[in-house]
Order: sequence, then structure tokens, then C-alpha cells
Amino acid sequence: MIEQLATKVSNGARLDRGEALELYRRAPTHLLGRLADGVRARKHSHPIVTYIIDRNVNYTNVCVARCNFCAFYRTVGSSEGYVLGFDEIFRKIDETIAVGGNQLLLQGGHNPDLPIAWYEDLFRAVKSRYPDFKLHALSPPEVLHISKINQLPVAVVIARLVAAGLDSIPGGGAEILVDRVRKLLNCYSKASADEWLDVMRHAHRAGLRTTATMMYGTVETEEERVEHMMRLRDLQDETGGFTAFITWSYQPEHTERGGTEATGVDYLRTLALARIVLDNFDNLQASWVTQGGKVGQLSLAYGANDMGSVMIEENVVRAAGAAYCMDEVEIVVNVEDAGFMPKRRNMHYEILGDPIFRERDVPRMLALGTARADGDTSVPEELRQYPARSRAGKQLRTLTN
Ligand code: SF4
Repeated sequence: MIEQLATKVSNGARLDRGEALELYRRAPTHLLGRLADGVRARKHSHPIVTYIIDRNVNYTNVCVARCNFCAFYRTVGSSEGYVLGFDEIFRKIDETIAVGGNQLLLQGGHNPDLPIAWYEDLFRAVKSRYPDFKLHALSPPEVLHISKINQLPVAVVIARLVAAGLDSIPGGGAEILVDRVRKLLNCYSKASADEWLDVMRHAHRAGLRTTATMMYGTVETEEERVEHMMRLRDLQDETGGFTAFITWSYQPEHTERGGTEATGVDYLRTLALARIVLDNFDNLQASWVTQGGKVGQLSLAYGANDMGSVMIEENVVRAAGAAYCMDEVEIVVNVEDAGFMPKRRNMHYEILGDPIFRERDVPRMLALGTARADGDTSVPEELRQYPARSRAGKQLRTLTN
């Protein structure tokens, strides 16, 4: 049976749900890797591995969703809650441009005190200062949150954000796209599986490209991991709007859920299966941020063709215990050592060029930046312009008046 399935994959045929599950459960790890590597080589005939220089910025950690796998959020009114000011975000963009970056990956908590006008004003301000800089921003649950608190349809929210400068949507918040799992992780109310997919459908229809993700290793079964992949494959068949897929393991430290982290072998098997099942996705990223540089490098033999982002700043995964840091030089060394040619890309996976540090002097980034310095509780000046919904938010506005 496994041999037949292996032949099917090698011949470029699509696996159905049962076949994918059988392969996942029974194929030896080296076979999964070989099959995934074959699919990658068919899609990417040149031995190029891409990466992007961008900055992962979390504009607020205040969140009403309270997913039990998340160590990043703070409740409304918490003394550790923050919202970044526009000037702080401009500074981060300046630093990103200095190391050759061209994009912010901008995500945050579901803060009830940020109306849609705050996002629109921020996006417009960024675009007027940095016209060519890209905003890869607001995962589907954040779009839904904005839709709910502003009582606007999702399509209208997307259209308004695009008019203000949104370029593309990151695939965060997917976790596992099965509602049984979402209920157990307390993330069903932020977005059901259908709602997550529907935001992406709207985004693709509006002409935006997006990514897709999967966080595994909590309460899901192997069937549910496969189900997640099938749901993404179906939507990609329908819209063709996903540029890439990224999977990572749940990071348990400091979370309400706790537990242990999945192994590196589980990661490589899951990545390889995704490459085989998601036959309509061109790009798979290596999640070295959660797995470390060496497993990240190994990912290139298990279906990944992209090293994701040079990490300049990271807050979410670090809050849950993982703090791997690789700047462009280290990514390039890892890619070349694995036998591939490293190339810079944009969000659309268009090649921008060779490593920037070989073209000009760029500062090394040997430590990850953070959203804010520890203990900085300052409230940005411009927040006062936006009405707050929560009692704590209203009090904060009064205090800063
Ligand atoms: S994962 Fe996102 S939505 Fe869930 S609690 Fe954390 S910040 Fe909020």
C-alpha cells in the first residue's frame, strides 16, 4: 500500500484524504522526505531557496480572544498591555529598511479599543512616508474582529483597509481548521474554521494574495491535521490566492494550556506531508523560528523551498519560550550549506536579488528586537483621537488627556 502511494506521489497524482492519512501514519520518515523533496524539485527546478527581509511587528498585545495556547496576549486593562504609537512603528520601518527590508508583517491582539479608523490612519501614514514599503497585515481573525466591533461586513473591512494601504494578508490564526479543535483551544469564537476560510476567500476575491498556516501539536488528531490541509487545498483550488504555506509546532511555555512541544521528527513529517498534499501551493516555508536553524536547514530536504523571514523582531513565539534568531548572513550560510542558492524575494515570491550583505554593508542583527522595551508603559499620543470601547480604555484616554 505505501509503495503504491509513493508511486502515485512520484507520478504527480493527487492523494485523497484516506491516502494522505495512510502515508502520514505508515511511511518511514526518510520516504516522506524523499517524496516531498521530489514534489519540491518538480515545482522549483532551479536549486534556489528564497527568504524575505521583513519585520514582524505586533502593534498591540491587548486581546479579548484569550486563546489558551497563547503566551503573548494581555487582558484589557492589564498594566502590561500596550499599543504601539505610529512613531514607534515608523522607527521600526526605518530599521527594517536599513537592513534591506521592504515589508512589515503586522499582527496583533484583538484590542477592543482600536476602531477601524486607527488601522486606516496607520496604513495611510505608513504609505505616505514610505510609498514602496509593503504592509502584510492583519490575519483573518483580526479582520473578523475589526468587522465585528465596527459592525461592518468583512468585504467592506477588506476594501477599506486595501484603500488605506493593505497589500496582503498573513495566514495566522488558522491553528487547526477543525471546529472541535478550535473549541478546545478557546479560539472558536475568534474565528470558526469556516470564518477563517471565508475571510481568505474575500481577500482573494479582492485581489489580495495571502499565506496559510497550521499550528499543530495541541489536541488535534492526525486525521484533523490532514483535514486542515484538505480544507486549504480546496480553497486554493477555488481561488488560487495563497502564495505559501507555513506550519509550526505549538510552543507551550507560559501558556494556560501548557503541555509539551512536538518533536523535530514530527515537524519534518508534517512538513513533508503538507508538501505532498498541498499540490496546488507553490511555496512552503521552513519554520526555523520554532524549530531552530538546524531543523530549519533540514526542512529544505523535506519539502520547504523558502526560509521565511529574516527575524528582526519577534514577540509571540518568544513569549512561549522559543527565541531563535538568524540574521541574513546566518540564513544564507544555512541555505548554501544545504546545497541551495539563496535569493531575496518579496511577498509574491518574485526574486529581488542576491543577499543584500553581499551588495552593501548592512548592520548584523544578532539579537531579536522586541515590540517595546520592558517596562515601557507609555500611551501613544494619537490614541486619544480614537474612541475607546472598554472601561479600561476609556480611563486610559482620560488619564492621558
Ligand atoms: S493567539 Fe492571537 S487572538 Fe489568540 S489570544 Fe493570542 S493574540 Fe489573541
